[in-house]
Amino acid sequence: MNYKDDFPILSRRVYDKPLVYLDNAATTQKPRAVVEAITEQYYNVNANVHRGVHFLSQQATQLHEDAREKVRAFLGAEKAREIVFTRGTTESINLVASSFRKLVSNLLHPEVIVTEMEHHSNIVPWQLQGFEVKYIPLREDLTLDFDAYEQLFTKNTTIVSVAHMSNVLGVVNNINKVIEIAHEHNVPVMIDGAQSAPHLKINLQDLGADFFAMSGHKIYGPTGIGVLYGKEELLCRLEPYQGGGEMIDHVSWEKTTFNTLPYKFEAGTPDYIGSHALAVALEYLEGIEVRGERREVRDERREIRECELTRYAVERLSEIKGLTIYGQPTHSVISFNLDGIHHLDVGTLLDRLGIAVRTGHHCAEPLMHRLGVEGTVRASLALYNTKDDIDALAEGLKRIKTMF
Ligand code: PMP
Repeated sequence: MNYKDDFPILSRRVYDKPLVYLDNAATTQKPRAVVEAITEQYYNVNANVHRGVHFLSQQATQLHEDAREKVRAFLGAEKAREIVFTRGTTESINLVASSFRKLVSNLLHPEVIVTEMEHHSNIVPWQLQGFEVKYIPLREDLTLDFDAYEQLFTKNTTIVSVAHMSNVLGVVNNINKVIEIAHEHNVPVMIDGAQSAPHLKINLQDLGADFFAMSGHKIYGPTGIGVLYGKEELLCRLEPYQGGGEMIDHVSWEKTTFNTLPYKFEAGTPDYIGSHALAVALEYLEGIEVRGERREVRDERREIRECELTRYAVERLSEIKGLTIYGQPTHSVISFNLDGIHHLDVGTLLDRLGIAVRTGHHCAEPLMHRLGVEGTVRASLALYNTKDDIDALAEGLKRIKTMF
């Protein structure tokens, strides 16, 4: 199936070469439907939400709340009030780190357990709030060391926060096991779903995660909108993250009381254009289903196709002598280096061939340290990528090798 036609930017040429976009873990391109939904809303349904008695405001509010319901269904959450709109994964994690710190204010040294493969946005927010950050080390094969994980729990462990899927290694962590072990210790779990939500079938009720974060822009939606899912019972216990309009019930000079969920965590005017456009992106994903197909089957089919393409990419790249792939990527993200050629040079030369990849530490410096490298080249796939894109990458890399 060819989805490229749905994404106008993919028909662009760069340096007079057809664009081969392989930087999807950084951000995905947007289907026409999403771009048009944004324009259409500004043209026809723009008004601030929730506060207005007038027609336009009510229509905009309806779209915003319909989007919340759409996200709830997409993530398999139980209740729409468990879905908080944020700016993205980073803000979602900062929200939980900040509010959780207040919840455990009785502890002098609260601890969070993350993994050695985390993105900085699942390390720094905890550090900023004064958590001691412990990490699950990686075994030789770069998978999580569960024996070591068990040893990390202490009476000060307040939360576990783990990437569902690595933005560097292209592996999916055994999140069920992470959650099971944490819950045996009565510790809640936050899942960083920035990379998993665009590729995996997510069902939060089956998963039993306590919190889940994702970004709209990585799943064919716009920038500036993201999601925090939290179990109702936990969200109720957490204090608000930011103060302002909308998140309050009553305000006086003496005392302020807070709004109900999820509004308690949504201070100020929300990105109601972004929320609707995110819903349109999720609808787009639904729309590529075979008629009458159940959602689970459709998502599974998309995942299988992306995994097949990843396998093909690993195969093609493995043909190249002197190329090292890090870990055993199964899902859409492949990090590698070419012997004796700096990753930045590889990225720059690929760019000249019209091929967009990312180079550097990918906001995962501790993982780079573990791999013993300064950075890598990262190719990352989305639903519109094809074998031709992979072939272009492999041929490009072979050509670069001949230049050195
Ligand atoms: N976690 C992971 C695993 C990521 O890949 C990213 C984005 N690269 C983030 C968190 C942060 O996402 P955002 O910048 O959209 O907030």
